[in-house]
Amino acid sequence: MNVEVRVTDSSKGKGLYAKCKILKESLIFEEDPLVSCQFSWNSAYRYLACDHCLRPLETAQENASRLSGHPIDLPYPECCTTDKSKFTKCSTCFTQYCSEECKTQALEQYHSIICLQTQDKNSAHPLEQLNEAWKQVHYPPETNSIFLIVRLLARILKAPNKEIAIAQTLQFCHRTVNEDADLAHKLLGDKFADQLSLLHNKFIAVVPHEGIEQFLSYEGFLSLLALIGTNGQGVGTSAISEWARNAESLLLSDDDKKVLDSFIDHLYQQMDENVGEFLNNEGVALYSLQSTCNHSCSPNAEPKFLHNNHRLSLVATQDIEEGEEIFISYLDECFLNRSRHSRMKELMRNYLFVCQCPKCESEADQEDVTSEEEEDMSE
Ligand SMILES: [Zn+2]
Ligand SMILES: [Zn+2]
Ligand SMILES: [Zn+2]
Repeated sequence: MNVEVRVTDSSKGKGLYAKCKILKESLIFEEDPLVSCQFSWNSAYRYLACDHCLRPLETAQENASRLSGHPIDLPYPECCTTDKSKFTKCSTCFTQYCSEECKTQALEQYHSIICLQTQDKNSAHPLEQLNEAWKQVHYPPETNSIFLIVRLLARILKAPNKEIAIAQTLQFCHRTVNEDADLAHKLLGDKFADQLSLLHNKFIAVVPHEGIEQFLSYEGFLSLLALIGTNGQGVGTSAISEWARNAESLLLSDDDKKVLDSFIDHLYQQMDENVGEFLNNEGVALYSLQSTCNHSCSPNAEPKFLHNNHRLSLVATQDIEEGEEIFISYLDECFLNRSRHSRMKELMRNYLFVCQCPKCESEADQEDVTSEEEEDMSE
């Protein structure tokens, strides 16, 4: 391991530090999440992904055809990595997995607790009721999922050692009751904050209570929402972008390369016209090590999904010296390019801290202005 977690003097308490020099563009570490899940609307709109690891369950050709709205004939089909012969389903509820390994891991870690049992025909299953309630308070573009919490608790119930599993969960929570309530409200947005107790009622109906009572009270629920709000990492996978990456690295003649490049450009244009920014299977996950990385507005590392599933690869975006702290950005690209005032406001809103990164310090004498466009965007 070329990194270590250390206690820092920053308000976050922990930070990740390089134990040796790490070169720009090299891999810092890879890790699988504690839990992950696909977003509810993303799944409802038929973005097909493995229920455990989010690997695409479509071929690149099917993916391109669906996203562009008409049949597409993809060249170089061998560049598609989807292997349907490995797909499998839960024998009880028919949840789909990309492989036997994913099904086994899901069943062992959490799925058997929340597997949809034979249904009472007169009412929707509690999990479906929760899904519907969540969808009504969390419209696209999605940033989180209540099912991350459901899986986190099911994981504790399934764990051979509950104390360890509870400690792994609590490593993420370190805030006061008021701060948790504040963060939970922000996760839902002001418009939906009054839906929290309804959501809580639906939530406690989906998991057995014994052994996890501390998380099921209203306060416990708010702290779990705060936990996923501040630690959830977005995950994106795509059969078509994997295909494009592989096709672009083929050894082709200059003419063939030109044809391929213009095919890809045209395809992305068609997909953009049909579905806009919604190209990927999208979801959210909790990572033990990555979540110890603090934020900077000029980060030196970036999470990537090089395996086209939920396995996270942290990649250096600058040379990092031995002993230097590793920073990622909690803000997306678009927010990172805004004024110091806007960045600070967004970080305070969603993470409750004042950024003291070098970029913010160097811009400290900037006026506290927020442009009108920025005001609109942050509504
Ligand atoms: Zn999978
Ligand atoms: Zn099942
Ligand atoms: Zn900053």
